[in-house]
Amino acid sequence: MRPRLFPRNCRAIAFLVCVIALGLCEVASRAQSYAVTLTPAFVEAGSPELIRVDTPIATTLEGEWMDRKLQFFRSRDNRAWFALAGVDVEAPAGPSQLRIVVRFSHGAASDLTRAVEIHPAHYRTGSLTVPPRFVEPDPEALKQIEAESQLKAKVFASSASEPLWNASFRAPVTATPTDSFGTRRMFNGKLASIHKGMDYRAAMGTPVRAGNSGVVVLARPLYYEGNCVIIDHGLGLFTLSMHFSRIDVKEGQHVATGDRLGLSGATGRVTGPHLHWAVRWQGAYLDPAKLLKLNLATVR
Ligand SMILES: [Zn+2]
Repeated sequence: MRPRLFPRNCRAIAFLVCVIALGLCEVASRAQSYAVTLTPAFVEAGSPELIRVDTPIATTLEGEWMDRKLQFFRSRDNRAWFALAGVDVEAPAGPSQLRIVVRFSHGAASDLTRAVEIHPAHYRTGSLTVPPRFVEPDPEALKQIEAESQLKAKVFASSASEPLWNASFRAPVTATPTDSFGTRRMFNGKLASIHKGMDYRAAMGTPVRAGNSGVVVLARPLYYEGNCVIIDHGLGLFTLSMHFSRIDVKEGQHVATGDRLGLSGATGRVTGPHLHWAVRWQGAYLDPAKLLKLNLATVR
């Protein structure tokens, strides 16, 4: 009987090896099925980022990136979770931590936190001349600016709890865009500010359209912005259109992609007629040109 003992042990060891190998395969395939993808893959200051997590069986996803809460939603085909986020134009270059925790119905959780390198963006410097009242506003104007700043803070403080946008964003106007996003600007040689939107060379009276569906949360004249329209696209994402000669929508109105918001003009702090279009996510200003390049057709 003794000679059989060795082969039996051998079989037991072989069985154990198989179990461990299968276990490792299972872990590997699970890790693969929880892949986190950022688009665009090259992350720089001002980038909008579509974050995709391939974990169809999760019940919730929580996340945080550079002190901003990530709000995930399921894709149309239910195969993945997405968050439309981004890096503020003024964010410092260097390493960042993208925190993502996946939770499952049986109470288990999986931590997908990873490091994301923020690359420095190379934006230009420019100077322009505007009427003096926009550089040194008088006390009356300062009061108005302060009141409007509070109004905008209130508008930006609430956003729909689900994405209101559908498919990819579309350019708001048929006009030549300029690569003016992120430019450090001197106004009349004095006030420095960062240009947080994209200017289109829109002639006076050009129809300006909704870049995507959402709710108009502000539609009125403001000191710097001139006639301004702000659309809430949900989950903290807004688009802002400025300097209209005429506004054609009302606050509270639902709009679909391509709906006319008004006509472009030269109201507010401008040097001439143009459309200023900005994208804001949870206080971060993102490059509109990069948002327009994101293919969101299969997302929702
Ligand atoms: Zn502008």
